[in-house]
Amino acid sequence: MYRTHTCGELRISDVNKEVTLSGWIQKIRDLGSVIFIDLRDRYGITQLYFDNVLNPELLEQARKLGREYVLRIKGSVRERENKNPNIPTGDIEIVVKELEILNKSEVPPFTIEENTDGGEEQLMKYRYLDLRRPNLQRALLLRYQMARHIRNYLDQHNFVEIETPFLIKSTPEGARDFIVPSRLYRGSFYALPQSPQLFKQLLMVAGYDRYFQVVKCFRDEDFRADRQPEFTQIDCELSFVTQDDILNIFEGLAKYLFKTIKGIEFTDPFPRLSYSEAIERYGTDKPDLRFGMEIIDITSLLQGHGFKVFDSAKYIGGIKVEGKADFYSRKKIDQLTDFVKRPQIGAKGLAWIKYNTDGSVKSSVDKFYTPETLQKVLSELDAQPNDIVFIISGDKQLGLRALGELRLEIARSLRLIKEGDFKPLWVVDFPMFEWDEEEERYKAMHHPFTSPKQEDIPLLDRDPGKVRANAYDFVINGVEIGGGSIRIHKRDIQQKVFEILGLTPQEANEKFGFLLEAFKYGAPPHGGIAFGFDRWVAIFNGSKSIKDVIAFPKNSAGRDLMLDAPSPVSKEQLDELGIEIKPDTE
Ligand code: ASP
Repeated sequence: MYRTHTCGELRISDVNKEVTLSGWIQKIRDLGSVIFIDLRDRYGITQLYFDNVLNPELLEQARKLGREYVLRIKGSVRERENKNPNIPTGDIEIVVKELEILNKSEVPPFTIEENTDGGEEQLMKYRYLDLRRPNLQRALLLRYQMARHIRNYLDQHNFVEIETPFLIKSTPEGARDFIVPSRLYRGSFYALPQSPQLFKQLLMVAGYDRYFQVVKCFRDEDFRADRQPEFTQIDCELSFVTQDDILNIFEGLAKYLFKTIKGIEFTDPFPRLSYSEAIERYGTDKPDLRFGMEIIDITSLLQGHGFKVFDSAKYIGGIKVEGKADFYSRKKIDQLTDFVKRPQIGAKGLAWIKYNTDGSVKSSVDKFYTPETLQKVLSELDAQPNDIVFIISGDKQLGLRALGELRLEIARSLRLIKEGDFKPLWVVDFPMFEWDEEEERYKAMHHPFTSPKQEDIPLLDRDPGKVRANAYDFVINGVEIGGGSIRIHKRDIQQKVFEILGLTPQEANEKFGFLLEAFKYGAPPHGGIAFGFDRWVAIFNGSKSIKDVIAFPKNSAGRDLMLDAPSPVSKEQLDELGIEIKPDTE
């Protein structure tokens, strides 16, 4: 028998029991005549006790052990003299009577503790050691619990989990596909799915009514912050539902997870913001609602006073920081100005108005405006003494985005965000298309199978840029956690949308012919959603990176440092596929 108990199980009520434990050595404290060893497994840590009176021979054996050795011990439980209130087994220790080394270990390349001394590269190369750390074990258990609860909720709501293939056909929309060469059909390729989108729609045509799948998706994207080339979605599709039905069912799922996993009960409905409202108020389609500082349009208040920069701007907006007028020195304002002028943000500058505690007004633009006008701006933002208003002007889209970034930056630097706070919301009514400047054509904002709003269908011909979609995103704390749409289920509208996206009927047929064909045979109205599971777990786990909640992630350059992948394959393998690698021309 390897064990009678786990290393996290024994309590004061077990004193005097004879037990067997197995696990890894976390720590050895050698005090000469006494040795303490912390024995660890997934369930916890138990202290082992050796001394030179009870068993000098065993003490000598214990002295030869090292970190991460795998042991089996037998002994009796006794009450500890120095209790450790920080761990559940902290009241007891095991007086060891027999000890067996099940396996030795080399000294691990980093400490296997919550706060390790290992660097990113090492942790990834020895991921199986990294995964022994309690924080990673907690993260993966949380991931499992979330998946279990999600399956449970969806099962209660009549969803069936159906697997869809990984070797599929490459389609042009969305991100870049990973492709897999076919040996049997030389020169032909499969693609790995970016999502099971078309399959889940076909399952609706097939009458399965409610589908879900916890599924890997693959996207060959360039390096972007915290992305993984393979990631997990909770992918769902439903028939005979409206957008509201879908939001309600999945709001129910989110509330259920918040309650069962985090112990947080949301009694009110989650806010639902239209895309345009989110952009106007927060400068982003994934607003962080954990703090205020909403953007206010002050274009009309500040134009027509002879200040060229503002007069020529399409838009002027401001955000108010409460109680910080005295805090924002020149230097601090300069830092924020540099922030908004960064090329990724692209604002031309940052103006400000301070409402001093003595009631006077000071501003970077006082030359151009009377105190009365500035005061009007302050009242528009409902400012109180010692508040400061930051102002950005320019093109509307850019101005709003810059204010949105500034808002986040200020919240971060002033630590306005309460830890453990969760602010979920839905963003709805996304535009159907966005104009791609480079390619000079419309692209689908969500994907080409998304349905336009019924009332906007006439605009498809006249002004596609104005068409709104029945599309929605689920956002928590400024992070997009999921998104989906009601789909097109009529062939003619689907064809029209392909046309606007620049696909000729032949191209559409070549790529999505099977879908158009399926739509001939009674496709029900349907819609769905997919959640980024890794990201949802990361948010619940309080992790900055999704890597922390994936057992074997790639590094930020898309490499698996443990496997050393991707890596070249043999000439024979390439020959079989009829593939020749071109020399690097760069
Ligand atoms: N397949 C979509 C995605 O991966 C989600 C959906 O529309 O259901 O973003």
